[in-house]
Amino acid sequence: MLDVTNYMVEHEHEELVTCYDRTSGLRALVALHDTTLGPGLGGTRLWRYESGEAAMLDVLRLSEGMTYKAAVAGLPLGGGKSVIMADGKEQDPQVRTARLHAFGRMVERMGGRYIAAEDVGTTTADILTVRGMTKHVAGLPAEVGGSGDPSPVTAYGVIEGFRALVQEVLRTDSFKDVRVSIQGLGKVGMSLASRLVSAGAIVVTTDIRPEISRQAAEQLGVEVVQPDAIYDVECEIFAPCALGGVINDQTLSRLKCKIVAGSANNQLEEARHGEALHQSGVVYAVDYVINAGGLINVAHELQGYNEEKAMAQAGQIYDTVKRMLALAHREGISEVRAARHMALERLKTGAVHSH
Ligand code: NAD
Repeated sequence: MLDVTNYMVEHEHEELVTCYDRTSGLRALVALHDTTLGPGLGGTRLWRYESGEAAMLDVLRLSEGMTYKAAVAGLPLGGGKSVIMADGKEQDPQVRTARLHAFGRMVERMGGRYIAAEDVGTTTADILTVRGMTKHVAGLPAEVGGSGDPSPVTAYGVIEGFRALVQEVLRTDSFKDVRVSIQGLGKVGMSLASRLVSAGAIVVTTDIRPEISRQAAEQLGVEVVQPDAIYDVECEIFAPCALGGVINDQTLSRLKCKIVAGSANNQLEEARHGEALHQSGVVYAVDYVINAGGLINVAHELQGYNEEKAMAQAGQIYDTVKRMLALAHREGISEVRAARHMALERLKTGAVHSH
């Protein structure tokens, strides 16, 4: 059994709000981890959880990750996240709308301390529905003046991170003949593959959707391997762009890369796997450092969206990755520890400035 209050003390969470709306059947949780730097902005995950406990643990864990992501990216935002527990009834459009409205009222009651956005299981259209009840949302469709799909900005940030990595680790200024294996050819992975191919890299890919793999092979000329074979590909960079938890006890010994860097959230199954990568000499571009482009994009919407400015700030991921590598090198620590250190430093100085 999860001891919620103990967990919150251990991880220093500020608040966990739970809601059951008896009219619509909404069951939702909002977690605020740390709002030192600003309101907690994070996606609303709609997911079928095995239990309320599993949902609670997920929202707490995810909100903590958002604190570090925003802090390292230099955004005036804290860490927050929400989950809506799915039961299948939300497939009915009327139920979905009623639940999203109830969720919007919940967010509104939090008075702006939490800002909701799209996440796994929700769309920008859902967030527009939530906005019917609260203005504390971000990541609206471009048609209504929002920042739209963040994926191109995320992919750009990842590429800028790659530039820093190949300079520091491979000692080259170009992607020419650099071998990159990409797991997942979705919105970010496909954009990454296309940018890398144009820059002269040798790209090996996989996806569980065969039609997408075929499209990549035909249009980009990339090599495609079976989903499980991606861990065995000899390459300079392994780029997880599908799911979380892919760096684990089973995959670690199979990796034949110098760098792990991709867009997926929560790439390490457990924090100790980051230490294991470090010990085996693999450089890990911590997920929340290199994939912050999407959050940066959404954050810009709060000030009136300007794509050029959002892209420019996502480009700074290049410098952030360099700082993380330098700190890890100087202190002889893993990249995971270096990134955490950078986040905590910003939280400290941010706290000083706000007083
Ligand atoms: P997406 O859903 O468009 O793409 C994911 C792709 O991975 C799909 O094509 C899917 O078929 C494939 N996939 C799933 N399981 C796989 C497996 N086991 N092996 C190979 N392929 C598999 O998602 P996306 O928007 O491209 O995001 C990719 C990852 O990056 C996700 O983890 C997401 O949370 C993270 N992320 C995305 C953004 C963004 O702006 N889109 C921002 C930050 C983080």
